[in-house]
Amino acid sequence: MSDVPLTLDEVHALATRCLAANGCDGANAAALADTLTAAEGDLCVSHGLFRLPGYVAALRSGKVNGAADPGVDEIAPSVVRVDGDGGFAPLALVRGREPLAEKARDQGIAALVLVDIHHFAALWIEVEALAEQGLCAFAFTASKALVAAAGGTRPFFGTNPVSFGWPRRSGPPMVFDQASAAMARGEVMIAARDGHDLPPGVGLDADGKPTTNAKEILAGTQLPFGGYKGSSVALMVEILAAGLIGERFSFEASERDNNDGGPARGGELMLAIDPRRFGDAEGYLDHTETLFEKMLAQDGVRLPGDRRHANRETTRDGGVTVPKALHDQIVGLAAGS
Ligand code: NDP
Repeated sequence: MSDVPLTLDEVHALATRCLAANGCDGANAAALADTLTAAEGDLCVSHGLFRLPGYVAALRSGKVNGAADPGVDEIAPSVVRVDGDGGFAPLALVRGREPLAEKARDQGIAALVLVDIHHFAALWIEVEALAEQGLCAFAFTASKALVAAAGGTRPFFGTNPVSFGWPRRSGPPMVFDQASAAMARGEVMIAARDGHDLPPGVGLDADGKPTTNAKEILAGTQLPFGGYKGSSVALMVEILAAGLIGERFSFEASERDNNDGGPARGGELMLAIDPRRFGDAEGYLDHTETLFEKMLAQDGVRLPGDRRHANRETTRDGGVTVPKALHDQIVGLAAGS
């Protein structure tokens, strides 16, 4: 089946039309379409249009509020809290971003607490937006029980990504964004859809046996990256994105989710640091550039985010291609089928 070529403007228009037809108001549809288009543009396909049917399912089941009106509060001198009003994460993130950046510049360090949101996207999007303003940033979110704790054979943690961003002297910031699972859920789903095997270590089947079959992993459990080390990172994310801020742990999200295929309710924590307030205001940028230069002097080494940024250059004018079956499905969802 052939792919459908789309410009990024066409991706945005298609996503907006589909979301609006399924219950998103203008502000929510625009913020979510921006997020989906950014993922498509960097060729992070597992968090681009591929996710749109899941977003629509969550709107149609009534789990997610397509007209959410996230509210912003200061709950401590350096803590901003956004109540997402049961909506998707992107609009809540947009509303919280400037208050967070302002507090980080005032105080040196600040936190953004997001509750009652449904996060289904890549975290680099919100981290890069802060790092582009000269801030160092972190983001953490939990999801549903999909990944076994080290030693276990049943899903317990979410895929629990962590993202970190650092501003550069020139060009886009350095941002890494990685699941604490050996592989993001979306990648496993795409492998199952396309019939590809996965490397050893990604998951176990329903009997707790190691398997490279993506469908068997979806029926069993994913594994953390690096054994107990990834498991501890996943544990930290549960605590930061749920225990600390009064939201649902991944196992609680699973217990309460309606399994419509869309994102479960949960929370997110972001931290922003103004490097100019940490004791090396004159030197921090150039000094860290020497770290990158020295690192990149070795053949075969690259910075995280470089793949995405290179993709962004090619898709800006060249657009993307979308699997025809997915494109047809989205056009159908936009038409009400
Ligand atoms: P990857 O394993 O593909 O990549 C993780 C990070 O490592 C990226 O920053 C990537 O940069 C970098 N990287 C990859 N290869 C190299 C290399 N050779 N040298 C240096 N850096 C490298 O991502 P994951 O599968 O772990 O996660 C995918 C996405 O899933 C993330 O965006 C995450 O936010 C999202 N996610 C979202 C969830 C949610 O609930 N909303 C849950 C779980 C995951 P680059 O991009 O440039 O390759």
